[in-house]
Amino acid sequence: WSEGARRLYGYTAEEAMGRVLMDLVTPEENREAALRHRPTVLAGLTLEYEPDTCDKHGRVFPVYARIRPVPPSDGIGPNMYVAVAVDISARREAEAAIRRHGEGQEEIASLGRLALRGGSLEGLFDQAVGMASRVLSSDCADLVEWCPDAPGFIIRTAVGWSDERIHQRIAGEERLALSYMVRSREPVIVEDWEQERRFERSSELLARGVRSSVAVLVGDVDSPFGVLAAHYEHPGAVPPDCLPFLDALANVLADAIRSRDVQEQIRHDSLHDGLTGLPNRTLFLDRVGHALARNNRHPQLLAVFFIDLDHFKLVNDSLGHEAGDELLRLVGPRFESAIRPSDTLARLGGDEFAVLCEQLPSEVSATRIANQLTSALEEPIVLNGRDHVVSASIGIALGTPESSAADLLRDADAAMYNAKQAGRGRYELFDKEMLARVLTRVRTESALRTALADEEEIYVAYQPLVSLRSGEVVGAEALARWRHPDRGAISPMEFIPVAEDSGLIHELGAQVMRRAARESTAWQDDPDFAGIAVNVSVRQLVQPDELATLVREVIAAEGIPPGFLTLEITESVLIEQLDDARDALESLNDLGVRLSLDDFGTGFSSLSYLADLPFDNVKIDLSLIRNIVDRPQAAVLVAAIIDTVQALGKQVIAEGVETLEQATRLQELGCDIAQGYYFAKPMAPDMLTALIQDQPSWLPPSKRSPVTARRRQRPARTNRVTQL
Ligand code: C2E
Ligand code: CA
Ligand code: CA
Repeated sequence: WSEGARRLYGYTAEEAMGRVLMDLVTPEENREAALRHRPTVLAGLTLEYEPDTCDKHGRVFPVYARIRPVPPSDGIGPNMYVAVAVDISARREAEAAIRRHGEGQEEIASLGRLALRGGSLEGLFDQAVGMASRVLSSDCADLVEWCPDAPGFIIRTAVGWSDERIHQRIAGEERLALSYMVRSREPVIVEDWEQERRFERSSELLARGVRSSVAVLVGDVDSPFGVLAAHYEHPGAVPPDCLPFLDALANVLADAIRSRDVQEQIRHDSLHDGLTGLPNRTLFLDRVGHALARNNRHPQLLAVFFIDLDHFKLVNDSLGHEAGDELLRLVGPRFESAIRPSDTLARLGGDEFAVLCEQLPSEVSATRIANQLTSALEEPIVLNGRDHVVSASIGIALGTPESSAADLLRDADAAMYNAKQAGRGRYELFDKEMLARVLTRVRTESALRTALADEEEIYVAYQPLVSLRSGEVVGAEALARWRHPDRGAISPMEFIPVAEDSGLIHELGAQVMRRAARESTAWQDDPDFAGIAVNVSVRQLVQPDELATLVREVIAAEGIPPGFLTLEITESVLIEQLDDARDALESLNDLGVRLSLDDFGTGFSSLSYLADLPFDNVKIDLSLIRNIVDRPQAAVLVAAIIDTVQALGKQVIAEGVETLEQATRLQELGCDIAQGYYFAKPMAPDMLTALIQDQPSWLPPSKRSPVTARRRQRPARTNRVTQL
């Protein structure tokens, strides 16, 4: 029992002498196996092998052992042996490391292949944690996801832990080592939790009996996904060369997570609207489809709402696209506030939104939701630092067993269109007739497109404007007319809105203005005839340059004085809201044409802005004129308008005068000019020529101004008349 043997096994020579060698160095469990070598030794052969041996303190370690017989002095057979042992734990460890490395490479390659196949991330996580535990011979391992908002971790996968631990949340303070890693971006190795001074062992690691751990970061250092860790129940059990392997696993996972994120982003983008982040038409139809399918299994009431912002194009044209985009972004949350979280709000495109509501208790609740959607817009929306009142028209379609998602959306659209027609800012429930009306409208648009290429189909009718002082025709309003070859006359009430919605209004407006200017040259020489009035859509007004160019071109082409042309612009909320309305009106005014505020009394009816805007006259809407004879209140109102407008130095024109009584009443109220069926309906230009020639006596002689009697003798236009 040499000095070397003492160092290796811890027994002194005194302790060892006289004992059975196997009892001394062979661990209990290996003794039976060791006995198998006996015959070799007894046969006098040299035995070389690498058994595990244990020292005095119970430490087990591998040795290279050689047991050689000493040649017998008596020649009978060996009875003495020399045994030599060399500690080979270092070599074994190196071999294990090489083997682990090889296995590790294999595992990483197979994990990489799995990731490429694009299976679920969960599956990949399970594989990776399993591999880490296997290759690094750990007692348990886990992958935890870092949740920066909480902050803390969610256990995504674990092996060697109980199953209920998966998807558990752990607070950041509980696993300081992990939080530390996320911050320091360094791998962490804890050789012995009991000696560890940087962080405390968490209660769960303690409960699991973990004594040593290794952990690496998964994902970009800037936005890590989480941490992959292996744990051991013994101190110092972390294999020394484990980091490259764990890092490689973490890299495969990080790549897979990244590509999944990219795919999800692409998928998300293809189903959502970039501006508002809301589901798009595709996703919406998909959701409606699923809802209808569910509906067939468990019948319940579902509704689709089609929402269209009123006058959105005008906002866009007048305030710019950025303000338009901003408006769209701002209305989304408004609508969301009106519905339940389980309902779907989508942006279909442009200024169109849609809502899907399921499990409605009744039809009434659908209309209640429509009301909520409308009221969600009541608060003004701030754009470019100014308040804007926005409204929306809503169409509702209720799901039926036969309907498809596309049908439902189309029906809701049709109902929305009806809501628009009925005066905007309101809702309508779909019924079958609506569809027919929508189809007509689509037909009208394409027919109008054709008609605009044809001189015959679209023409202009003129309705005289009569002075209530002189009783003479002092002007005419040019009104667009459309005679369709099959459908006959189509009312401007029908085709003007279609032209406005489709953008055809620009071409139509230009044709009417050119033609009216050309045809009006016939009346230019009449001393009392002050000019013609042409209607201009607000849609033309929001493109002031185009409109100004048109006006200049028309004046030059027909050689009419600019003051001979009046542009009638409908009074509406928008005039006041349009930031550029004033500029547009000023620039038209600068051209020398006259401006008329049309349909006064139907829109905002505020006289306050009238003072600022360069209108030359105001036309009181026929809805106000209709009752002036029967209802004293109506007359009071009209009287007030007349006085105010005249006080501002502008003329008043009464529209829709149908009876002599109305004409006389207006005359008494001091109204300047009247227009209406009582005098004449809109007519062809040569008929107006004839009418001007033999001036009828529309007003009773007693009421007629003496000037009228001398009309034909008057050499030049009076100031009063040329003011029209
Ligand atoms: P508006 O500018 O208010 O034109 C007056 C409308 O009242 C005309 O209808 C005219 O025929 C009608 N009217 C005239 N006198 C009476 C009356 O005594 N009683 C009744 N009940 N109605 C009377 P019309 O021609 O059908 O035009 C309807 C609207 O279409 C016009 O209303 C105008 O807003 C628009 N419009 C017509 N032509 C054009 C155009 O060339 N361009 C644009 N932008 N709009 C046009
Ligand atoms: Ca008009
Ligand atoms: Ca009018």
